[in-house]
Amino acid sequence: MTIKNLKEKVLHGYSICKEEAEWLAAQPDKEALYEAAHEITQALASEEFDMCSIINAKSGRCPENCKWCAQSSHYKTKAEVYDLVDKEECLRHAKYNEEQGVARFSLVTSGRKPSGKNMERLCEAARYMRKHSSIQLCASLGLLNEEEMRALHNSGITRYHCNLETAPSYFPTLCSTHTQEEKLRTLQAARNVGMDICSGGIIGMGESMEQRIEFAFTLKGINVQSIPINLLSPIPGTPLEQQAPLTEEEILTTIALFRFINPTAFLRFAGGRSQLSKEAVKMALHIGINSAIVGDLLTTLGSKVSEDKELIEDAGYKFADSQFDREHLWHPYTSTTNPLPVYKVKQAEGATITLESGQTLVEGMSSWWCAVHGYNNPVLNNAAEEQLRRMSHVMFGGLTHDPAIELGKLLLPLVPPSMQKIFYADSGSVAVEVAMKMAVQYWYAKSLSSPAQASLEKKSNFVTIRKGYHGDTWNAMSVCDPVTGMHSLFGSALPIRYFAPRPNSRFGGEWDAQDAMNLLDIVEEHHEELAALILEPVVQGAGGMWFYHPQYLREAARICKEYNMLLIFDEIATGFGRTGKLFAWEHAGVEPDIMCIGKALTGGYMTLSAVLATNEVADTISNQTPGAFMHGPTFMGNPLACAVACASVKLLTSPEYDWKGKVSKIEAQLEKELAPARDLPIVKEVRILGAIGVIELLENVDMAWMQRRFVEEGIWLRPFGKLVYIMPPFIVEPEQLTKLTRGVIKIVREMGFL
Ligand SMILES: *Cc1c(COP(=O)(O)O)cnc(C)c1O
Repeated sequence: MTIKNLKEKVLHGYSICKEEAEWLAAQPDKEALYEAAHEITQALASEEFDMCSIINAKSGRCPENCKWCAQSSHYKTKAEVYDLVDKEECLRHAKYNEEQGVARFSLVTSGRKPSGKNMERLCEAARYMRKHSSIQLCASLGLLNEEEMRALHNSGITRYHCNLETAPSYFPTLCSTHTQEEKLRTLQAARNVGMDICSGGIIGMGESMEQRIEFAFTLKGINVQSIPINLLSPIPGTPLEQQAPLTEEEILTTIALFRFINPTAFLRFAGGRSQLSKEAVKMALHIGINSAIVGDLLTTLGSKVSEDKELIEDAGYKFADSQFDREHLWHPYTSTTNPLPVYKVKQAEGATITLESGQTLVEGMSSWWCAVHGYNNPVLNNAAEEQLRRMSHVMFGGLTHDPAIELGKLLLPLVPPSMQKIFYADSGSVAVEVAMKMAVQYWYAKSLSSPAQASLEKKSNFVTIRKGYHGDTWNAMSVCDPVTGMHSLFGSALPIRYFAPRPNSRFGGEWDAQDAMNLLDIVEEHHEELAALILEPVVQGAGGMWFYHPQYLREAARICKEYNMLLIFDEIATGFGRTGKLFAWEHAGVEPDIMCIGKALTGGYMTLSAVLATNEVADTISNQTPGAFMHGPTFMGNPLACAVACASVKLLTSPEYDWKGKVSKIEAQLEKELAPARDLPIVKEVRILGAIGVIELLENVDMAWMQRRFVEEGIWLRPFGKLVYIMPPFIVEPEQLTKLTRGVIKIVREMGFL
């Protein structure tokens, strides 16, 4: 037998036996033992350090007689005595720990188990924390049965902690009021209801090294993956107050053996580690401690989170990248000081997204309208790879290339016949900027064309409809809904636009002529300064997910013509089949003067947009000073993006793909499966058009809570305001879509009960 042989055995997936462990413990060459354990840790245990935290939610007055414990009422100690802390206090601690990057937070109470009333309060506290923070929740509440475990689990607690404390052969000498069998039953009950378990104990209570080994094997026997290791802090007043401390060598040897015996588990530093020298702590991390309870530890003081982190990083562990993300990366519409949770994606395939945690989610957002073919599509991959080998980019000023030309050829037959000129841009918002600049420059050019038309130069403002969304850049923002958009914030810095009410006539409903009158009123008054009307045809997206009557577009086109205004369609969200037509203008048969497309243009592979214009618009601009349209982004017509866009458009429009069939099947399934949501009291309305299903609620959603619940249901959706909506990739399978609709209804119903 050699240390190396036994290490190899473990590295190859075999277990060592008790005799081998005892032999290891007896080896005088400690360095070799520690190094062997270190190699096992590196090969088999998590290199991401796991930090958890606890709140001592009820302290003292415990009827049990555990000889080590400050909280036992059998002994006279100085431990604090207090009743259950309230949920606000729990949340405050949870949030503090969450901000420090701690992954888990545990409610810990003294006593054999909480009273029925206290169980209810603890469940309520868990629900409360769930709703207002995203830290993972654990509990350690004593000896519970399955029914009590289920209540905890349903309240959002995902892991239950119950220490076996020490070796089965030693436990009865330390405690006579309960047995380890009762602890094992508790852990089993937690497992039965679907919770993870966490169980370890205390070393240095007078047990022998053989008993520590016995203990490590007992934990292995129940396959526990989170093992807290406490070092006894002898508490004055308890029977163990005189217990001599273990030597650092005994402690480190024990950790090494725990690693040999439980090679993949999180060995978790818990209480008492402040007794160790800094060198011993470093060595313990090196050997195999890859998790810790941080912050204040029950009745003995633990150490500060920031100090712990330094030591842990020095030992070569990583903190979950989500920590870096949380500390340094800004996400869309998100606070840096109190960010919404983010989920790290490992890969995406078809209509699914796989998270770093291994969990696979059905994708219900198409990554904000764009990934219509799902992810990792071989045709699109291939187009990108081939283009990459030719050139990923060249400037479009003075140069041109096949992907840009081919994409133009593909687009022209699909868009309104009036559209003859194509201006490539880099994103949807930029396309909107470009469209608005075109409109202004058009009237400027007109004003130069004859002295009689000089007053047309004044036509430089815009009218739009409320509840629209056109992007986040300056001008795009100015035509977003002035109430739900960003106007209050940027108010004085934004150009003032005119807003007609949102058309109330529904898609598929009665046409109400008042809708057009509302627009006409504004145009009549302001047409001399209006360059264009800009709107999203038929479907308003991010501004409210509203579907309106196509007649509005016919009336709007008539009004624009009559009052010398251009008509701009923003089809960035609606384009490429989403509404059941290839482009939404087809619902009305109305052709605009300028049209923006983006989002699904590359099938969601990369950012690319285009602004399409009539010859009249393009040529008028071009025939006057300065003789050119004044815009030209660096990445204009990016060949890589154009090549993928070509592949995506060809795929979408190929007869075998049958996008229309796919979208109408999704529409029918959404109609059928979302219908039951109409009966929920919290639901105001359910509306469906093409591959878009919207549930409008009576209240705002709590996004962090709802998204977490969706993830737990295995679906990916991002609600906002009062809107929960599904817009899956067109290639979604019926069963996947069912998973989405079922999950949505379940969680919306749950929200109604909160
Ligand atoms: C998303 C969107 C935009 C903005 O596009 P980005 O690529 O995010 O800049 C503009 N208009 C509509 C209708 C959109 O849905």
